[in-house]
Amino acid sequence: MSINACENAATASPAQTFQIAVLPGDGIGVEVTREAVKVLRAAEARLNDVRFELREFAAGASEYLRCGDPLPEATFAACRQADAILLGAMGLPTVRWPDGKEISPQLDLRERLDLYFGLRPIYLFHRDDTPLKDYDSREIDFAIVRENTEGLFSARRSTSSPTNGEVCDVMRITRRGTERVCRDAFRLAQKRRKRLTLIDKANVLPSMAFFRSVFDEVAREFPDVEADRVYVDAAALYMVKNPQRFDVVVTENMFGDILSDLAAGLVGGMGMAPSADIGEKHAVFQPSHGSAPDIAGRGIANPIAMILSVALMLEWLDIPQTIHAAGRIRVAVERALADPVHRTPDLGGVLSTQEIGDLVAAEV
Ligand code: ATP
Repeated sequence: MSINACENAATASPAQTFQIAVLPGDGIGVEVTREAVKVLRAAEARLNDVRFELREFAAGASEYLRCGDPLPEATFAACRQADAILLGAMGLPTVRWPDGKEISPQLDLRERLDLYFGLRPIYLFHRDDTPLKDYDSREIDFAIVRENTEGLFSARRSTSSPTNGEVCDVMRITRRGTERVCRDAFRLAQKRRKRLTLIDKANVLPSMAFFRSVFDEVAREFPDVEADRVYVDAAALYMVKNPQRFDVVVTENMFGDILSDLAAGLVGGMGMAPSADIGEKHAVFQPSHGSAPDIAGRGIANPIAMILSVALMLEWLDIPQTIHAAGRIRVAVERALADPVHRTPDLGGVLSTQEIGDLVAAEV
């Protein structure tokens, strides 16, 4: 699997140091980041001429409590300078802005760095981890591409007050935003099984009919990719009934948010779902899950999603050594999970976050 749909990765040179900004964030973000860094260091030790310079920064709800700013300007500037950003998880349900909205600097980062291409790979490593019957490892393997900068999420900045007994959230779809995400999704499909499914609600919403018309225009540029169109409600059904129907799917922000969690459920849950948010110049790699305050501090969070996000980062850095290291990490995860006992409690096991991190690092 390749994620090099965006042709913008850091440039290669024979002996290279990559600057990585590390934002562990809140809750289990801190715990899973520790294990992911351990695995990254194990991969680095196998590389002759590539080094990773990691700089850690505080950001998130805890940082807001500490200094009143969840993403200090100096941290944002460092993220902008870095070759890539590794992020654990941010936000805590009890920590909110005065208007009641949750602190979510990870969304600010996405918008300010224009990370429009939200990649959520869904891959079954072991048959024991899917709730579906009769699926073997590798038989669930598709990628969700979520438009990250507009769609229904763009309403999050609106300041409506329900004084008239009514609040409207706007679904913002632009030609530019749709063209670029669809084009990159087609490029990704070209590198996989050459099938791209648009997920929309074009039968009901004018914004989605527009999304589809732009998708159809872009599809003509990629005659080698089979373009398919499914309404979002049917897509939710097909994902559960027949996930093999999908190779790459592309959709607007909110639909992508919801379907990503559903799809993660097919391969073991949030602890198994990595993600990459990619723009023209920058990219953030983080697990699809949040800070999970219900299990934070107990050492039982599953670090695999974060470890696989490191693999996505290495692939995006896009030189032969880092691409090789990404493959090595995925094989290490596969080997570590081959023994059904090697599981954190979310997957029915008894191992700790650290024990899983150690197992994967040893396999690397
Ligand atoms: P957000 O809105 O920030 O994405 P969320 O409200 O969707 O967060 P999560 O923090 O992702 O919630 O957690 C959802 C559920 O999944 C919780 O019960 C949590 O304990 C569980 N969970 C999430 N991540 C992991 C993980 N890495 N390991 C084990 N369980 C997890």
